[in-house]
Amino acid sequence: MEKVLITGAAGFLGSHLCDRFIKEGYHVIGMDNLLTGNLDNIAHLFRLKNFEYYHHDVTKFVYIPGDLHYILHFASPASPIDYLKMPIQTMKVGSIGTMNLLGLAKDKGARILVASTSEIYGDPDVHPQPEEYWGNVNPIGPRGVYDEAKRFMEAITMAYHNFHSVDTRIVRIFNTYGPRMRLDDGRALPAFMSQALRGEDLTVFGDGSQTRSFCYVDDLIEGIYRLLMSDYHLPVNIGNPNEISIRQFAEEIIALTGTNQKIVYKPLPQDDPKQRRPNIDKAKQLLGWEPKVGRAEGLKITYEYFKNKIQQR
Ligand code: UDP
Repeated sequence: MEKVLITGAAGFLGSHLCDRFIKEGYHVIGMDNLLTGNLDNIAHLFRLKNFEYYHHDVTKFVYIPGDLHYILHFASPASPIDYLKMPIQTMKVGSIGTMNLLGLAKDKGARILVASTSEIYGDPDVHPQPEEYWGNVNPIGPRGVYDEAKRFMEAITMAYHNFHSVDTRIVRIFNTYGPRMRLDDGRALPAFMSQALRGEDLTVFGDGSQTRSFCYVDDLIEGIYRLLMSDYHLPVNIGNPNEISIRQFAEEIIALTGTNQKIVYKPLPQDDPKQRRPNIDKAKQLLGWEPKVGRAEGLKITYEYFKNKIQQR
């Protein structure tokens, strides 16, 4: 049985990856320090023989006994309010954490996939964003801690690939949503849904004309799985190119939830990207991948999840 190490295993994407690799018949080692993750997301896996959990901070030396075939590095605070609260941890996990895991991959001869982000494009002046675009990032702005950590992650991953022949993959993840997002992570979708469920007005930042393109989690996981199994080592965008303004997005959530609440406008955070939409030509050509779940369907499933979560509290 091949072994996979998944860091950030108790987080939103990490937990869905654990499920996928268990389903594919791998032995999964989930690692997390629970800074932003929650064991509830992987509680159902603990009874399985082919799942192990290590409570560990990947910025400290990572030791895994025996063989290891794949590493997926998904540990990091990832929502703007999280990385504003934890700027140093965010920079360390993207830099020192990534170095530790690349070292582990080199030692074990394992293939490693690192989770990069559309944030490396910053506030993009090329639209939609193809992988060849270098980005427009403010290194010393509030989002710089995340953006630059992920840019460093990509640079050092390429260095290990080129100088140590480590077998690497880089995925650039665009806005993703679905069950197991944290209600209080501050992102647009959990904020709007929990506001609607609690009978509060929906807080749109700025005039809401900024755009995002939201991908349902199952589609994203499929793209990541295919990229890991491909032989392509340069970065690949995975996301849904269906773009929407944040104001329209809030209106869709108002319609879906049937809430009587309205939109209230709050100041736009500094360096908030004005537009974001992936060019997914590479993923289509190289991986035969494109998203399948439309927003109406994905939002419905996610709303059911949030409704249950709020009722349980
Ligand atoms: N946003 C908003 N209200 C909220 C939370 C977020 O209007 O309560 C906006 C935010 O300013 C941004 C967009 O929604 O323009 C997406 O924000 P999110 O934090 O989900 O992710 P980002 O793409 O900015 O990393």
